[in-house]
Amino acid sequence: MIVNVITEKESNRLAYVCDFINRHPLNDGLFVLKTNVEKADLAIAYSNTDKSVYHKIPVQSILFQYKYFETAFANEYSFHNQKIFSVETARKEKQEFYKNGVFGFDFFETIFFHLSRVEELELEEHQLNDRGQIREEELFVIKNQIHRFPVVDQIIVGLVQIFGNQKVQLKTKWSVTHDIDYIERFSGAKSFFKASVRAIMDFKNPLSVWQSYSSKKANPSLDPYNSFNRLLLTSGTPTKEIYFLMGGEHVYDNQYSLDHPIFLEAIHIAKERGYKIGIHPSYLSWDKSKIIKSEKERLENNIGQTIDISRQHYLHFDILKTPNALLESGIKEDSSIGFTKEIGFRAGTGFPYFLYDFNTEKKSALLEKPLVFMDSAALHLEKPLEETTEFFNLNKYNTQMTVNIHNSRLVQTTFEGKLVNKIYKVIKGYIDS
Ligand SMILES: [Zn+2]
Repeated sequence: MIVNVITEKESNRLAYVCDFINRHPLNDGLFVLKTNVEKADLAIAYSNTDKSVYHKIPVQSILFQYKYFETAFANEYSFHNQKIFSVETARKEKQEFYKNGVFGFDFFETIFFHLSRVEELELEEHQLNDRGQIREEELFVIKNQIHRFPVVDQIIVGLVQIFGNQKVQLKTKWSVTHDIDYIERFSGAKSFFKASVRAIMDFKNPLSVWQSYSSKKANPSLDPYNSFNRLLLTSGTPTKEIYFLMGGEHVYDNQYSLDHPIFLEAIHIAKERGYKIGIHPSYLSWDKSKIIKSEKERLENNIGQTIDISRQHYLHFDILKTPNALLESGIKEDSSIGFTKEIGFRAGTGFPYFLYDFNTEKKSALLEKPLVFMDSAALHLEKPLEETTEFFNLNKYNTQMTVNIHNSRLVQTTFEGKLVNKIYKVIKGYIDS
């Protein structure tokens, strides 16, 4: 079914959104949007004045015009008992998403806002965190408390029902990933020193740290971070990816030997269980393809495979610069767009999509697989297990859940480790069901 979008203003941004909608897995070819074509099954006016056809989408003309704008509201619309949220410059009372052929708001611009991350451009000092990235509290979806809904995917569900005449209820697709920042807890004098300081601060006996350190040092299979056998899934259904950190110069970085028995074991299990192996580019690599490339080659030479997937360490990602640095290094898919202190959808969708390049005003060649859930981020929540369970239950259908569980978080003896183990059990339950 071809839907002709009649518009006086064709633009790259509109074309980008139409392409996204046409490719969206929930649409699955049921309808195809085209602009100003002769032949179509349905015509829709993307205009505030055109009265020639029955179907209409109002034009907001803000997000397609500017790089960034200040004030936006998430107005609530309803569609068959479902909530749909807009991004608009005026506050409105609750309305219907679609009534008598007319859409309630400009969903093209709303979708563009979320996917492109336009709000992460041209930030002011007070909006930045200590890493120079936007503070997550400043993000539109967090400010409006709609981050736990895939607001973009929900718009697509509505469109499929209107244009494709079909009710969509597709089981959520799971993608399990792991960032390997550390392979062992006790790795040499530096970490022993750190652990001792921690023990003294916690009024614990530093001698016990030494005893634990020396016994585990002697036997790497007992190291609490060597959890790969429990961590890596045997089941074949979901997408499975593992990203290895390859060093780096920043204090947040870590380097392990690629001859280390725990690393070799991790690679062995990952290959055996059908994981795709990627890199976890170091903290300062976000705008430097040279660093990304050398880290990528180091791992490629070691595992004897080409690598084309990655996730930035600490999700240190800049929407203007990082995608091109990754592409120049031969990376095709990134998975850094997510939260470090929250769970949910930073870009409004859980499904992989091509980013927008503001440098060229075109679709980027980099595929983004949004990171929806990360163990370390969930630990910042008031009630990690309860909120996570509720979140997964809320999103059983019509989106994708890309989750990140760290080997270093699956420790069985600490309070936080036990919590992550419980959460991972819940995730496995969803995957197996
Ligand atoms: Zn990391």
